[in-house]
Amino acid sequence: MKAFEKNIRRVEPYVPGEQPQHKVIKLNTNENPYPPAPGVKKVLEQMDADRLRLYPDPEASVLVEALAEHYGVGKGQVFVGVGSDDVLSMCFLTFFNSEKPVLFPDITYSFYKVWAELYRIPYECQKLDESFRIVREDYYKENGGVIFPNPNAPTGIYEGLEFVEDIIAHNQDVIVIVDEAYIDFAGKSALELLERYENLIVVQTFSKARSMAGMRIGYAIASPELIKHLNDVKYSFNSYTMNQTSLACGVEAVKDQAYFERTVKQIVDTRAWAVKQFEELGFTCLDSGANFVFVTHPAHDAGELFEELKKDGIYVRYWGSGRIRQYLRITIGTREEMEALFAFFRNKFID
Ligand code: PMP
Repeated sequence: MKAFEKNIRRVEPYVPGEQPQHKVIKLNTNENPYPPAPGVKKVLEQMDADRLRLYPDPEASVLVEALAEHYGVGKGQVFVGVGSDDVLSMCFLTFFNSEKPVLFPDITYSFYKVWAELYRIPYECQKLDESFRIVREDYYKENGGVIFPNPNAPTGIYEGLEFVEDIIAHNQDVIVIVDEAYIDFAGKSALELLERYENLIVVQTFSKARSMAGMRIGYAIASPELIKHLNDVKYSFNSYTMNQTSLACGVEAVKDQAYFERTVKQIVDTRAWAVKQFEELGFTCLDSGANFVFVTHPAHDAGELFEELKKDGIYVRYWGSGRIRQYLRITIGTREEMEALFAFFRNKFID
């Protein structure tokens, strides 16, 4: 080993789902199958390239204001970042600084472990029960902070507000982050608990329900005190995280509530229909509150299905390890995309 190599920070990075550059049926990274709100397209068409000479507003004011108005919170309660990955990573850096371990589920968004390792934060994974549900009592013990997604990923399971509040209430000496990347497809958000819990941070994204994964916009909503701490860390890292285009497009997406509701409903309806199809084919589906389903089949190996689907140009997500070895996570696409998936299964299962 060369002397300088001793000082290199070595990390095992998060592995994102594949982004094939040729045309496939893409049900592997929980993108929205519908385009962003029409106003976003208009903004892009009218963008003045000359504006790009200038740095963007480091406070991302227009987007912060649009989100504050939309959720009925103060401007000082909103933090925006380059996707919720950026926001969550800033939260880890800012709020998880204890000697005690941060707690999160063993089967969850795998980036949590990566950030904990990267920032050298001690952590302890809490096992989901046999039905892949979070066990609330596991989060009652002493810890350095708590984070979990609701709905959880990749299970898709949504827990009601009483459950979420119970975990927050048992952890008022540390920060609790509820990652609500998929909340719009599920039920009530933890946002309404903010009034009662000053240790709560709710993180959401434009990547799923707002069809803007490629734009990279995420946000956190919390008390003005916590948001100030987040901003202090952000300004110590990179002042200009949000580019001009994202800011302008983000505002348009927030404004169009009717479009948002329509496309979310389409996905939720397709999900209900798809679950029935999966069950008719003999799959077991975990109860999903997300824009994806987590499925397993008693007679077909998940790894083999994954490979064969891929050969047929249908991409889904497969981890192939531990308790989820026999599961596939399948994003809800358009009705036509899902029909193609089920046609594949029908042909395969009859052979
Ligand atoms: N949280 C969860 C649970 C996710 O599944 C994802 C999507 N990969 C994210 C956060 C990050 O999404 P984004 O950075 O696109 O906002």
